[in-house]
Amino acid sequence: MMENLEHLLLEKDIKPTAIRLLVVRAMQEADCALSLTNLETRLATVDKSTIFRTLTLFLEHHIIHAVSDGSGQTKYALCPSDCHCDNKDGHNLNGLHIHFSCENCHRTFCLRGLSIPEVELPEGFVLNNANYVLMGLCPECAAKQKKR
Ligand SMILES: [Zn+2]
Ligand SMILES: [Zn+2]
Repeated sequence: MMENLEHLLLEKDIKPTAIRLLVVRAMQEADCALSLTNLETRLATVDKSTIFRTLTLFLEHHIIHAVSDGSGQTKYALCPSDCHCDNKDGHNLNGLHIHFSCENCHRTFCLRGLSIPEVELPEGFVLNNANYVLMGLCPECAAKQKKR
C-alpha cells in the first residue's frame, strides 16, 4: 500500500518523504475529511507546523481538497482520481463533489459520486469555486437514532 501512495505523490511531482507518506496514508485511511487537529491527533509523532506545511504542499499540487463545512475548521480530503480541482478556468464545476456534514458526530464526508449541480449565474458574475455542503445525519448516527 505504501508503494501506491508513493506513486500517488510522484505522479503529482511531490517527493515522497516519510512524513508526506504518513500524512497521505492517514488521509486515505480516514473515511471522512480531516481537520489539522484531527491529523495532529492521528499523527502524534509529527509536529503541527510540519503537518500544516505538508497540507499546503498537497493543496498546491491538487492531491487533496479543502472543505469548509461551517465548523470553523477547514477540513481536508484526498482528491478522487478524476478530480478537476486544478481546473482553473472557473466555469467548469465538473469533478467538484458535494460534501455532507453530520450534525451529530461532526464528521464531514466526500460524496464523490455526487457532483455539484450547475447553476445559471446572473449576467456579470464570474464563478471561481463552489462549496456545497449538506447537513444532517450520517448513516451511523441515523441508525443509532432509530434504535432509541
Ligand atoms: Zn454522524
Ligand atoms: Zn471531498
